[in-house]
Amino acid sequence: MDAEQLREYGHQMVDFIADYYKTIENFPVLSQVEPGYLHKLLPDSAPNQPEALQNVLDDVRVKILPGVTHWQSPNYFAYYPSNSSVAGFLGEMLSAGINMIGFSWITSPAATELEMIVLDWLGKMLKLPEEFLSSGQGGGVIQGTASEAVLVVLLAARDKVLTRVGKDSLKKLVVYGSDQTHSALQKACQIAGVHLDNCRLLKTDSSKNYALSPDILCDAISQDMSNGLIPFFLCATVGTTSSATVDPLLALGKIAKKYGMWFHVDAAYAGSACICPEYRCYIDGVEEADSFNMNAHKWFLTNFDCSALWVKDRNALIQSLSTNPEFLKNKASQANMVVDYKDWQIPLGRRFRSLKLWMVLRLYGVANLQRYIRNHINLAKYFEGLVTGDSRFEVVAPRLFSLVCFRLLPPDNDENHGNKLNHDLLDAANSTGKIFISHTVLSGKYILRFAVGAPLTEERHVTAAWKVLQDEASALLGSL
Ligand code: PLP
Repeated sequence: MDAEQLREYGHQMVDFIADYYKTIENFPVLSQVEPGYLHKLLPDSAPNQPEALQNVLDDVRVKILPGVTHWQSPNYFAYYPSNSSVAGFLGEMLSAGINMIGFSWITSPAATELEMIVLDWLGKMLKLPEEFLSSGQGGGVIQGTASEAVLVVLLAARDKVLTRVGKDSLKKLVVYGSDQTHSALQKACQIAGVHLDNCRLLKTDSSKNYALSPDILCDAISQDMSNGLIPFFLCATVGTTSSATVDPLLALGKIAKKYGMWFHVDAAYAGSACICPEYRCYIDGVEEADSFNMNAHKWFLTNFDCSALWVKDRNALIQSLSTNPEFLKNKASQANMVVDYKDWQIPLGRRFRSLKLWMVLRLYGVANLQRYIRNHINLAKYFEGLVTGDSRFEVVAPRLFSLVCFRLLPPDNDENHGNKLNHDLLDAANSTGKIFISHTVLSGKYILRFAVGAPLTEERHVTAAWKVLQDEASALLGSL
């Protein structure tokens, strides 16, 4: 690493990125390239001799950026947000600069200790029960994604129950979630060797706003137990992926406790909102949980990847995931004086991800982060008002956070026609390049999702997005 070259190139790169943000609205939000476009533009093999940075940046501008979907555009309203911020970016930069691999405490004590401290800070902001903090038997850890978070706790829960009932019972273990639970749960089952037939995705419906019903859960557990199966894991969601529904944590948690099941709460998206006192109620009942997860890389100004996972019993993770090869042995670990995060995750190596979360917490402060969340929720409310003000549309699920689920009503009341109409509206709106929204299906209906949450989004962007949707709807309805 040549420090002076880094200084020179680093300045150029920061300028390039700053210019990107300044002009981000000029790009089509959703990349409009065709599959395979890049092969036609780049050589077949790597250059033999070094090239100038300027040439590479020119290629980024001309060849790469057209193939980028601009998640940081203020006109991005698809899926859930994935925030970038100055603080998050600087934290990433620092982490790349230091570039240590902090698998054990000894490999960089600051990395482990800062991670413990910032997750305690965030846990306190969320008013998580004390047992989730590092002062007791539990603690927080940064995983790459919510998918990894649910996988590691599922592995811990699996091994805990197998210790009790015997290793031969793996095929009898049953996992519960709802048909709104993120597919990460199924993937975790596949990896953990839990039979997919024993992954119960219980039915939800519009009468309960697509939340998991405690009664339906109890019925399913009773039936499974009478068939000799062993319930061991329940995943509830705060802010489901399709419609941001909140499962009733308290009631579900009590059921989990009654049957000795591990209770995991996936608040990947909506967890961020719970730092505001007025939204904290959505995680009431988290006291019953064994683990809680929130993606700081979604709606919390922390650049990808940073998924915060808290557990009440760190030993359950360690029992499942620890290894102790000779080449990693050291005094602090052997004496059990330290946390070695390698034993709380799948890989060995780990980045200094706590730096960016620490930077976000310090450079914004709690009050600004709360203001940030409230602003997006207000913008979503504003969008919801625009939709309800146009009788051609309907809002299809209650809006709790910053996601609005809506659709264009089929003029002939024919639902098949309605699905095609909304599918066409999505395509038409996204093809303009002016906005990017995504869809889901609820109760067999094709629904459009408008998720506010990009850091640069202002009211004028929401107004303009609604105009695009109205214009495209008029064009579609006019052509019928
Ligand atoms: N859980 C919920 C509720 C989500 O909305 C998502 C993604 O949007 C995930 C889990 C998966 O997140 P990740 O990409 O961090 O695995």
